[in-house]
Parts: sequence; structure tokens; C-alpha cells
Amino acid sequence: MISIEEMASFCRRKGFVYPNSEIYGGMAEMKNNIKQNWWKFHVNNREDIVGIDGSIITHPKIWEASGHVAGFADIMLECKKCNERYRADQLIEDVLKIKADGLSVEDVNKILKQNKVKCLKCSNSLTDANEFNLMFETYVGPKRNKDNITFLRPETAQLMFTNFKYVVENSRLKLPFGIAQTGKAFRNEISPRHFLFRCREFEQMEIEYFIHPDKIMDCPHIHEVLNYEILVYSAEMQKKDNKPVKMSMKKAMSGGMLKPWHAYWLSVEHKWFVDLGVNEENLRVRQHLSDEKSHYALDTWDLEYKFPFGWKELQGIANRTDFDLKQHIKHSKKDLTLYDEESKKKIIPHVVAEPSLGVDRTFLVFMFNAYDYDKDRKNIVLKLHPKLAPIKAAVLPLVNKLNKEAKKVYDGLKSEFNCFYDSSGSIGRRYARMDESGTPYCITFDFDSLKDKKVTIRNRDDTKQARIPIKNLKNILNNLINYGGKFSEL
Ligand code: ATP
Repeated sequence: MISIEEMASFCRRKGFVYPNSEIYGGMAEMKNNIKQNWWKFHVNNREDIVGIDGSIITHPKIWEASGHVAGFADIMLECKKCNERYRADQLIEDVLKIKADGLSVEDVNKILKQNKVKCLKCSNSLTDANEFNLMFETYVGPKRNKDNITFLRPETAQLMFTNFKYVVENSRLKLPFGIAQTGKAFRNEISPRHFLFRCREFEQMEIEYFIHPDKIMDCPHIHEVLNYEILVYSAEMQKKDNKPVKMSMKKAMSGGMLKPWHAYWLSVEHKWFVDLGVNEENLRVRQHLSDEKSHYALDTWDLEYKFPFGWKELQGIANRTDFDLKQHIKHSKKDLTLYDEESKKKIIPHVVAEPSLGVDRTFLVFMFNAYDYDKDRKNIVLKLHPKLAPIKAAVLPLVNKLNKEAKKVYDGLKSEFNCFYDSSGSIGRRYARMDESGTPYCITFDFDSLKDKKVTIRNRDDTKQARIPIKNLKNILNNLINYGGKFSEL
């Protein structure tokens, strides 16, 4: 696997991402494809999930109720001389190679002092560590006083709780059901690093999945995933220093390691990546250790990916219980309960799973998974799933003389698919450029095309070619891109 720096430079060279991680061209297109596919899979294709689009600047009371004002903090320290800032857990993990997630301020100070850890830049002493709240503050209205302070949302999640009652009333959904949202989130990260992996402004795709509080063990979809296999790394395995084990969800549930709803959601999320081509060897689910869990979580499992800088969180799936709804009921004095027809009582649903995924980390996963240097072709081939590829097909006239006719083929496709027209350079160079951009299909218009009204379509992954009638091109591409059609069957 290439390093994160090599990936950053490849993304810049191909115009996927600009130096300040601004999104550009290819990445904008690919991010849209990721979000669209996520939405289709999680919202449009399901009867039990609806989507919302909540606001970014919200009432400050929301973040008090959620516990973010008091507790959404990282531990930070800085060099007394050069002022270089460090996130304590990262510094401890980097220097001492021990896991430091969830340590208290006292523990951090003790460990750093005991091990005489110094500034990595100038070797001078470090300050004591302190908590640092990660939310970006701003003011609403013209007056800049403490009563007008508010925050940019650090996660999209809370809006799904505050809008909970409206969504239920409008959608008329019955438990169990979910609310989904995609959008920007902001965190004043102490040391953004690893390119797009940790940014201050990023996007999330999240679901809050609500169930009846008396039906915590009752997942009606569980039969769909009983035989689904995942590499599992439980808290127990981590404590005993054992290796993760690949096992079916049935097995993982049999000893109580995974509860049915968690098994279901981990499988659904894992499968989303695998269906879009991610190698399952590089995916695993890891349970949070008890001191690592967020303030609201009963049990959390992360879907992790093996990045070149180690196994890291790609998606968090927490059981948030009724923590958030209860908090919002308490702070807003609004009734967020549901009336249960069966028991004729008011109930507060539980969020049994909150699949929370970062779009930018997802982009990186698909890029690492797709990146392949082909020794025979002597160029990089970006083997993105056709659904995710920014350009679906390139139309290439063999020579410039054929521009007029080839352009007609391009014009016939461009309203349906994001296509690219390229007439400059040798055909080999043009194929190589499209391989590097991840374009799954190249369509070459040659002199015979004028007579037989056929074009040559080339498959990116194995360079195989087929000759097909121009009039069938749209249907054939649609089948290959969107319906899993096989190139070998053309
Ligand atoms: P980490 O431990 O890596 O800081 P987290 O546990 O704080 O992550 P969550 O609060 O669970 O992250 O957020 C859900 C998802 O949002 C993460 O799994 C990740 O994909 C994404 N995410 C969180 N913080 C960032 C960030 N600063 N930049 C990019 N993506 C992020």
C-alpha cells in the first residue's frame, strides 16, 4: 500500500484535491457519488429510514443538553519554548507506542512526566496537559456577549433528536425506524493530520436508529445477516492481547459479544463497503474499551480500515440508549415521548445504533483500495467501482479527423453519465490518463465506426475490448455502471 503522503500527492497531481485539502473536480464528483450511493442504500431503498437536512448553526442549549459543552474535549499540551501543540493521546501513542484513548488529564500528565516526554520539534519541556473543547464558537445576532454564543455543529446527530417528534409525525413511521442525515460538521482539531483523515471541516453521513425500549434484543432483520462474516476484535480480545477473529454474526452473538442490533448494523455497514469493492481483508470491527466510550454510549463498535498509518476508525456505531432524547426532554421541557399503542403508555425510544460515517475518510478508503500500479501498462490504474468513478466513460476519437462524428457519440451520452471527451495525444496516452482518473470505460471511435456504426469499448481493469453498436451504448453503459453488468458478457 502507498503512504498517505504519496496518496496526497497523487490526488493533487490528478486534480482530485488541492493543497489545502480543498475539494476539486474529481473529488467533488466522487464525494457526490459516495453520498448519493449512501443515501440510496440507507434511505431510498429502505422503508424504515427517512432523511432530514438540519441546520449547521443551532441553538446553544442543544449542545448543553447533549453534553458537548461540558465534555466534547481532547487533552492538549504545548511546548514551553516553540509552542508546538500536541493532542496528548496522539503524542503518547506516537512516542510510547501505547494506546491512550480515553485517558484522564491526570493519567496523561503522569505518563508524560514518568517517561520524560519532550517536544518532538525542539526537545524542550512541555506544559501540563489540559482539556480543550473541540467546538467552534460563534455568535448569533449583532451583540457579541456570552448570552449570544453558539456553536457550529460538531456532529450532524443532534438535529435528528431535536427534530425527532416532527419527523415521526410527518413520516408516520412506527418503531423501529431511523432518521438519516448527511452534511458538514466542524471540530477545532488540535492537530489535523493524515491529509483528509482528520480535518477541521468535514462531512458526515449519520443515522439514528430508534427502537422500542422493551425490544432491545429484538431485531426483526437479524436473519439477513446471521451467516455474514466479519473480522471481529472485541474488548475482551484486546485486553487479552489476542488477534481479531473472522466470524459469522451468529457466532459473535452466541457468546453475547455482539447484541443483535449491533450485529445487524455492523453487517449492513460492512457490506456497503464490500459491495462497492473494498477488500474485506482491510476491514474489521473493533469494540471500544470501557474507558474509551463517549459519555453517552452503552456499547460502541467502530468499523476500522487498515490505512497505511495503521488500523483507524472509519465509522463509529454507538448504542446511545435514551440518553439524548432524555437530555433534550429535560433541557427543552418538550415532550419527545411516543405513545405506545400496545402498552397504552408513553415511551422514550432508544437509539440502539448510530452508524456515523465520515465522507472524507470514506473517500480515502475507496482511493487506497482502488490504487494499483500496473507494471505492464507502466501507469497507475485507479480501480474505483463504476458507481463511484468521477468520470464514467471517455469518448476518444482515434484521430482528430474523426472529431465531428465522435463528438456526436459524446453528446449522446453526456446527459446520462459524467463523460469526458479527449482528442489530444496518442490513444495509449489517453487510455493511461483515464486509467489514472479511475474511468472504467473508454470508447474509441475509429474509421470503421463511420461505416459500421460501432465503437470499441475498453474495460479499465483488464484492458479487454469489445465492439458494440453506437445505438446500444447508453443501455450497455447503464447496465455495466449501475446494475453490475459483466464486461465479459458483452
Ligand atoms: P477520532 O477518534 O478519529 O477523532 P471520533 O471517534 O471523534 O474520531 P466520531 O465522533 O465517532 O469520531 O465521528 C464519526 C465519524 O466522523 C468518524 O468515524 C469519522 O469518519 C468522521 N470524523 C470525525 N472527526 C473527523 C475529522 N476531524 N475529520 C474527518 N472525519 C472525521
